[in-house]
Amino acid sequence: MAEAIEKDVTRGGQFLVKETLCEDVFTPEDFSEEQIMMRDMVKEFVDKEIWPNKNRFENKDYQFNVDCMRKAGELGLLGVAVPEEYGGLGMGFVSTMLVCDYISGATGSFSTAFGAHTGIGTLPITLYGTEEQKKKYVPKLASGEWFGAYCLTEPGAGSDANSGKTKAVLSEDGTHYKITGQKMWISNAGFCSLFIVFARIENDKNITGFIIENDSANGISMNEEEHKLGIRASSTRQVFFADTKVPVENLLAARGEGFKIAMNALHVGRIKLACACLDAQRRVTSGAIKYANERIQFDVPISSFGAIQAKLAEMAASAYAGESACYRGAKDIENRIKARENDGASHQEAELKGVEEYAIECSILKVAVSEDIQNCSDEGIQILGGMGFSEDTPMESAWRDARISRIYEGTNEINRMLAVGMLVKKAMKGHVDLLGPAMKVAEELMAIPDFNTPDYSELFAEEKEMISKLKKAFLMVAGSAVQKYGPDLDAHQQLLMAAADMLIEIYMAESVVLRTEKMAKNKGRENIKEQIAMAQLYLYKAVDVVNSKGKEGIASFAEGDEQRMMMMGLRRFTKYSNIPNVVSLRETIAQKLISENQYCF
Ligand SMILES: Cc1cc2nc3c(=O)[nH]c(=O)nc-3n(C[C@H](O)[C@H](O)[C@H](O)COP(=O)(O)OP(=O)(O)OC[C@H]3O[C@@H](n4cnc5c(N)ncnc54)[C@H](O)[C@@H]3O)c2cc1C
Repeated sequence: MAEAIEKDVTRGGQFLVKETLCEDVFTPEDFSEEQIMMRDMVKEFVDKEIWPNKNRFENKDYQFNVDCMRKAGELGLLGVAVPEEYGGLGMGFVSTMLVCDYISGATGSFSTAFGAHTGIGTLPITLYGTEEQKKKYVPKLASGEWFGAYCLTEPGAGSDANSGKTKAVLSEDGTHYKITGQKMWISNAGFCSLFIVFARIENDKNITGFIIENDSANGISMNEEEHKLGIRASSTRQVFFADTKVPVENLLAARGEGFKIAMNALHVGRIKLACACLDAQRRVTSGAIKYANERIQFDVPISSFGAIQAKLAEMAASAYAGESACYRGAKDIENRIKARENDGASHQEAELKGVEEYAIECSILKVAVSEDIQNCSDEGIQILGGMGFSEDTPMESAWRDARISRIYEGTNEINRMLAVGMLVKKAMKGHVDLLGPAMKVAEELMAIPDFNTPDYSELFAEEKEMISKLKKAFLMVAGSAVQKYGPDLDAHQQLLMAAADMLIEIYMAESVVLRTEKMAKNKGRENIKEQIAMAQLYLYKAVDVVNSKGKEGIASFAEGDEQRMMMMGLRRFTKYSNIPNVVSLRETIAQKLISENQYCF
């Protein structure tokens, strides 16, 4: 049974070497009625409670942020991912992402509080807690009676998260640990009731996780709120523990397992963060469209200018691609969780392994979508001109809020390295066969190319061929780099960054093309010409990235004939037979946006 399921489900990272059919990807068009109801409820909550009060968040009204969190708790939204037996709604992974997406669009202050609480503040207990720990803490966290925070980062331990100096010392009678140390940048610290804290016992190689109740009488103190570029009403403080007593039963999982807990909570955190950027992108795009339609210069709305239309089209295409990739990834995780449950695993174990399996995709999504919202809000400001720079319009806060997404949950540099590193590891372990396909690409390069003109009459025939060629380009570059450097590849960070960019663009472009192909089959291609244009536009840009990053990578490690051969391969793998008219694609997309006066996909 397990074997059969394993064969059906595409494994993490396998998208590179296994053809995915459009019928096999989940898309936002596939939401169930229940999911649509949930989405509409969340939208209503945000439109009523959060969006109209944006200035309160920008004016650092921390208490208001907490009040909104309580209201979200009353609506059950803090317990979406929590199993019903612990007071949650026990909804599937996709629904969890859906809530995270639509709840996060109005302000990063609320989305950070929500994400830190429901993700890294609660998940370590639901994923790793004992039955007693879960019964004691999770219902309170799911209802919003208590809020959680996650204390991993320290002044000397940021990206190098396992290097923390916070100590945990077991008492002589063996009943409790005493925790001493300094944590910094702790989201929700100012109002949380519980901390997940990582500390080192003796000279252990790895840190250990603890659940610590917030009690100032127990050696816990804090600095004032940090003053930040964005997410201004999100509480962020330094937290100090001085001989803070923690009963031994509050140790999470086992001694020395803290780093594993921290990393696994972060995998979920990363895909959640990607989803949390989606509705912000939709709102920013809609705001820019509305403004462009209203703003008159040279006697016409600025939306009639090609320069503005190009920006609107690019913004919409990247939001559409982000949605396509996030929900594809979320459903793959959900399927994997279900398969493991069917195979007898507990929900806890299934969720852990399910998410871990797709850690590569989680990193890809985090990087791609956090950078898309940054670019999108930047262009949003540009479309609004001087007004975009003013605090009176929501563009500048969207831009400031977007900035943090590239830093927390692992910086985008760390996530880029992780994505490629994890892929190479999976290949070494035999979980994903990259070597075989990479060797085939090498053979193909030596053979005489096929000069026949293929039949591209079917929708996306050329685009899908292009995606498979981009995969070959990645396999050629990454395969040769691994051969060249072996385990020393880690030391060649610029090469890893370039390879990661290729990988990211391939996943995103494939997701957007597959979503649109599926849509065309259901709705008819004549009815979705703008979506087709967005998929083609996104792919066109992805091809450019793969080409330029591929060149950069090859030139960094290959010389002479080898370099010439690979450069020739790269040209072949990034060559369109019919170069798309991107100007016309952008016009098609922009016309629709302008007539609908909002992001409408
Ligand atoms: C608003 C906010 C909220 C946060 N919330 C939390 C929270 O709730 N809990 C928590 O534990 N932490 C939290 N953090 C901390 C956050 O996760 C860290 O800031 C982040 O992991 C980066 O660590 P750092 O700031 O020490 O930067 P550093 O690790 O010092 O990195 C600085 C730069 O160096 C780069 N770099 C570092 N190492 C490498 C490497 N090996 N190779 C290449 N480049 C490298 C980074 O990518 C970055 O560009 C929060 C931070 C902020 C700003």
